[in-house]
Amino acid sequence: MADASPTSIETNAGKKLPPGMVLGPDGKPCKICTAFRYMKPPQGGQNQERKQKQGENAKIAAAMAAAAPGSGNTPDPDVRPEYCPPDVEILGRSTWAFLHTTAAYYPDRPSPTQRANMLNLLYALPVLYPCSHCASHLGEEMKVHPPDVSGRTALSRWLCERHNEVNERLGKERFDCAKTDERWKDGPSDGSCD
Ligand SMILES: Cc1cc2nc3c(=O)[nH]c(=O)nc-3n(C[C@H](O)[C@H](O)[C@H](O)COP(=O)(O)OP(=O)(O)OC[C@H]3O[C@@H](n4cnc5c(N)ncnc54)[C@H](O)[C@@H]3O)c2cc1C
Repeated sequence: MADASPTSIETNAGKKLPPGMVLGPDGKPCKICTAFRYMKPPQGGQNQERKQKQGENAKIAAAMAAAAPGSGNTPDPDVRPEYCPPDVEILGRSTWAFLHTTAAYYPDRPSPTQRANMLNLLYALPVLYPCSHCASHLGEEMKVHPPDVSGRTALSRWLCERHNEVNERLGKERFDCAKTDERWKDGPSDGSCD
């Protein structure tokens, strides 16, 4: 299964989908595998230029309205309202926050039960994670790099490396794994998060 990428794809039924929309294992558009900004239908034909212009004008109007004193209720068409179900990015961000934070507070010397519970949690992800192509990539990664649950530092490092694998695949920068405690437990030394 391909990652969300800016090329048009077709469903099994030959229907054209928006660029970046990802298909699920059933061959249908997979909302939880796709970033919200790719969920809109493709725009084309004679109306494309007009719609683009309208979109630009709407963004400018929204920015102006947002900047006006006492306002703030103008919805940004590219931002999903908070009451909507998560997309692949919100789900990913939330899951990484949970996993990295859990690793940051994992014991230095975990008991056999704690290790077993952590392994259960991690091995459940490739089975249960709702974004199916994310889950299957992670499963393949975990076959090559089994989780190290021997202690807090090793687990944080292992998780950082798995996250970096996703970052690289998505064309994002690698994170410096020496900084996982600063990011997920202690905050920066300037005290700005204290
Ligand atoms: C298991 C899993 C697999 C995923 N697979 C895919 C996929 O195949 N395709 C897809 O489109 N999306 C996938 N995602 C979602 C993707 O990883 C991002 O969460 C999403 O694109 C939002 O990215 P973001 O730039 O907001 O930051 P995120 O990547 O969500 O990172 C959140 C924060 O974590 C910190 N961070 C970044 N890298 C690291 C690291 N290596 N170690 C520690 N902290 C770090 C940064 O401060 C960053 O702001 C997956 C998510 C998970 C949890």
